[in-house]
This record gives sequence, C-alpha cells and structure tokens, in this order.
Amino acid sequence: MNSARQGRPFFFNPGPTNIPERVLKAMASPSMDFFAPEFMDIHRYCHAGVMRVLKTEQKLFIYPSSGHGAWEASIVNVFSPGDLVLVMESGFFSERWAAMAEHLGVRAETLPADWDQGVTPDALQARLEADTAHEIKGVLAVHNETATGMTHPVAGYRKSMDAAKHPALLLSDTISSLASIDFRMDEWGVDVAVGGSQKGLMLPTGLGFTGVSEKALAASHKATLPRKYLDWRTMEGREPQDFPGTVPVHLFFGLYESLHMLEEEGLDQVFARHARFGEATRRAVGAWTGDGEGPRLFGQVPERLSNSVTAVLMPEGHDAETLRKAATRYNLSLGGGLTRLAGKVFRIGHLGDLNEPMLLGALSTIELAMKTAGVPHRSGGVEAAVAYLADT
Ligand SMILES: *Cc1c(COP(=O)(O)O)cnc(C)c1O
Repeated sequence: MNSARQGRPFFFNPGPTNIPERVLKAMASPSMDFFAPEFMDIHRYCHAGVMRVLKTEQKLFIYPSSGHGAWEASIVNVFSPGDLVLVMESGFFSERWAAMAEHLGVRAETLPADWDQGVTPDALQARLEADTAHEIKGVLAVHNETATGMTHPVAGYRKSMDAAKHPALLLSDTISSLASIDFRMDEWGVDVAVGGSQKGLMLPTGLGFTGVSEKALAASHKATLPRKYLDWRTMEGREPQDFPGTVPVHLFFGLYESLHMLEEEGLDQVFARHARFGEATRRAVGAWTGDGEGPRLFGQVPERLSNSVTAVLMPEGHDAETLRKAATRYNLSLGGGLTRLAGKVFRIGHLGDLNEPMLLGALSTIELAMKTAGVPHRSGGVEAAVAYLADT
C-alpha cells in the first residue's frame, strides 16, 4: 500500500530545500527593469540582508549561479597560477572544491582526515608552522559538510592560523549552514565566505554569494588567474553591485521575501530552531541504533554533528538506496550518500522552512520505510524525538 500521489510531498533533501509559499508568491511577479528605483531598493535590501546573515560589514558579491559559481569566484579572484592552497578534508564537498581549484590551475594539498571526524585545529596549526616559507596562500574549509552531516570549527581554524602567524587567506564554504547555523564571517576572520541560495535561504537554486574581506579584496587586485564573468574588479564599481549581464530580478524578489521571514523570526531563533530539530533527529536515530543492530549517526565527533543535515549510516549489509526507494513510495524524499558513502548512508535535510509536524512526519515515515524495506532497527525513534521536542 502507498499513497504517494495524494497529499503534500515531504521533501527532506539537504538542498534544495522547501520553498515557503511566501517566497513562491513573491516570485510570481511581473518583470521589472533592474535599473528602476523600485528594484534598486529591493537589491539594496537584499545585499544588506545577506551581509547581516553572513555577519560581515566588509564586501559581498552576488552571482547568478549555483554554489559552484561562488566556489569558482572564491578561487579565481584571489589566487594566481601555481599557488598552493591547503584543503581541510571533510567529505565530498571539500574534495570537489579542491578538484575545482586544481582544475583552475591552483595546487591543492589536502590535509587528510576521516570523513566521520574532520581536521583538528591542532593538525592545521602543525602544517602551517611547517610552512616557514609561507608557500600556502589559502586555507579552504567547508563549514558544514553536507555529505557527512558535520559542522567544522572554522573559528578554531582561524585561531590555528593566527597562532602559527601564517598569512594565508581563510576561505570557508557556508553553503549548507548559511541562515541555519551561526556563521560569523568577520568575527571568525574569514576572508572569503561562499554561500548559495537553495539551502537555508529557502530559495530556488540560482544565486551564489561570496562575502569578501578587505584582505581578500586587496589580494584580488594582484591575483592573475583569468576571470571575467566572476571578476570582482568589474563588479565593485556600482553600489550595491554591478552585474555583468541581466540581473535575475525574480530571485531577488524571492530573496527579499526570505530575508524578511528570517528577520521576522530573528536569526538567533532561526539557529535555535535548527539546533532543536537537529537534536530531535539525532535522538530518533540514536533510538533506532539500539544495541548496534540498527542505523546509526555517521559522524563520530558529538560536538560537530550538524544542525542542518544528519547523515545516517546503514547497518552492515543494508543498502541506503533501497531504504530511500521505500521512502519515495510514501512521497518522502531523502538525500543519498555521495561517492564513497553511496549506498552506505542516507541523509535527512532538516534545514530551511520546517516545523515540528513536518519533521515528525518525516521521522515517522523513515520508520515506516525501514519496516517496509526490512532494515533492522529498534523502535522508539519518533517517541524519542517527541519527548525531546515536548521538553524544549
Ligand atoms: C550544496 C553544496 C555545494 C554546491 O552548491 P551548488 O549550488 O549545488 O553548486 C557546495 N558546498 C556545500 C557544502 C553544499 O552543501
């Protein structure tokens, strides 16, 4: 039995995420001249709003692109051919960012770590102290590794860089933490913060962001990698920002609305809601684990477990894709495992436009799908989540 075609779809991928009706409605608007004063007001509000979310008072550039475009912008604007960058291994997304840097002509050295742990600030400090010639020009760290469900200590990495008195730029990917987990670009000394629209900001894919420090902006004036469409030097000109081409006005209509929603709820409250849903999800998974027969949390460092996405490791001999297919029959969409985690983990995206009934609906349906797919687990996951939610 299933009823996948009736009722609302339950979408729990860790990106894209659910788009609130308010945002959908705001986007269902006629086109507008992007030089019109009415649009400039929207553009200015959006620009300032994203800077508030990033917690920066330095510089922001917005691109009509997915997160990959902002990744590329973070590399081509500050580095020169042959420069060396040090990538904190965290999972699929740190690998992909490193591969992109290599492809663009930058040498990427990986500071290795198990995907269920991540790099310690001490390991970074030791590597930087060994780099007495200051060959390393940039440290690349994914704040929230969406593939593993782990949030890594960007502020701690900055402390290591300072302790080693190393002048490299700190680049951080905040694509799946932006507007769902606290990220403090200026306070943490991040030089380039990379974001995207389709995760915590609850928008369709199509806007990339980079927060840029004064230091990174200065570096961009000396960097020699080729760039054109993503070149900060051509975008710096006009306030709030010159776009090299047509401005995606509808995405700005959506962003204007989602920023209002975040400000109405209050950013701290938004983070607290994500923390609460993250913990409720972890309690449910913990109950399913039982004495070890059931699925378990993938991440092995408790304080790094992410509040926006949970990666769940399947019991030996059980394929996560079979479980995901069973969930799809009940109209619940979950994230799959990426590259080396394919078939081994499934991921519950609990970020963006989400409330208790939605989360409990998803957790109950995962239990249903585990029963349907014959995945061993201890019952009581939903009860554990309910008990936690009722208490907090
Ligand atoms: C989603 C994601 C990306 C890629 O963003 P796209 O918009 O798909 O290009 C990069 N890094 C992290 C951490 C992500 O979660």
